[in-house]
Amino acid sequence: MKPVQEIFPLLNEPKRVVIVPHQKPDADAMGASLALLHFLRTLGHQVTIISPTNWAGWVSWMPGCSEVIDYDLQKENAEKILDKAEWIFCLDFNAINRTKNMTAKLEQLSCTKILIDHHQQPDEKGFDYGISDVKKSSTCEMIYDLIYASGHSDKFSKDIIDCLYAGVLADTGSFRFSSASANVHRLVADLKDKGLEHMHVHQELFDNFLENRMRFIGHVLLNRMEIFYEYNTVLLKVPKSDLLKYQIKTGDTEGLVNYPQSIRGIKLVAIVIDRDEERKWSFRSKGDFDCNTFARKYFEGGGHFNASGGRSSDSLEKTIEAFYSAMKENKSLLQ
Ligand code: 5GP
Ligand code: MN
Repeated sequence: MKPVQEIFPLLNEPKRVVIVPHQKPDADAMGASLALLHFLRTLGHQVTIISPTNWAGWVSWMPGCSEVIDYDLQKENAEKILDKAEWIFCLDFNAINRTKNMTAKLEQLSCTKILIDHHQQPDEKGFDYGISDVKKSSTCEMIYDLIYASGHSDKFSKDIIDCLYAGVLADTGSFRFSSASANVHRLVADLKDKGLEHMHVHQELFDNFLENRMRFIGHVLLNRMEIFYEYNTVLLKVPKSDLLKYQIKTGDTEGLVNYPQSIRGIKLVAIVIDRDEERKWSFRSKGDFDCNTFARKYFEGGGHFNASGGRSSDSLEKTIEAFYSAMKENKSLLQ
């Protein structure tokens, strides 16, 4: 994979570009994709975003989101656009299989592929150009850097600013994770100077849910939470019946894993959600417990040191048993 800087001189020739975020794109993946779309369009490129799956309601407000193509819903149309693409940007994921049903199609295309990502242990093969930097707070921070580094700092529009801020805000846990570096705070100051209205973005991301989600959170914390003080670990177990009862949609479970972190002494919080096609895991840790290694070793996943995800095709009961064993195996690291 050649350094991303090598594409900068090529940005001046208009191209057919497709941008692909990871499945179920979150605020960082969608924000980075849309910011890049708006930026590349100002340079005259023809740009389409194709998301491997649907996305949460709390990213739908982002400028340009209504024209994003959902591959699952519009496979034929999406593949026509992919076949004609000269450049494909892959944003906010470290392995091509994070694009779910799009994986085979992406692997088959021979156009130029560019990776921009901040997850650990990227699978760089298959990418022509790119940048992978685990020290970056978010892919949005990397798009911000790219706009500056490519010599186009005059191209920051209101749309780009809102999208970038949303991703940085979400991926730093509202500036509380260690990834919220001095550079991140300088970025925010710069976006403020450029006209950012940060309260608007906060409200769209965090204050725009329906009652059912709030009641669901209450239910899970009251009835589905197990605490293992001996292991400084909390497990939230969400069966499919809860998702149906509370009419939970994509994105409604985001952030639930953060609540138990406020219990004194807790180092690891895990949540497992019984989705139709798989059991989806999320892990969050405080301090020196490595969630990336944990997710990779036991749950076919990965991510960051303090935040990762994984999956299982076992039943809910079986994958929970696997978690108990993994937790016990990690006792010394959790103390
Ligand atoms: P979340 O728990 O919010 O879904 O994900 C936490 C972090 O881990 C995110 O940066 C996400 O991209 C990453 N992640 C989540 N699930 C997986 C997975 O199955 N595989 C890998 N490699 N990363 C994941
Ligand atoms: Mn990210």
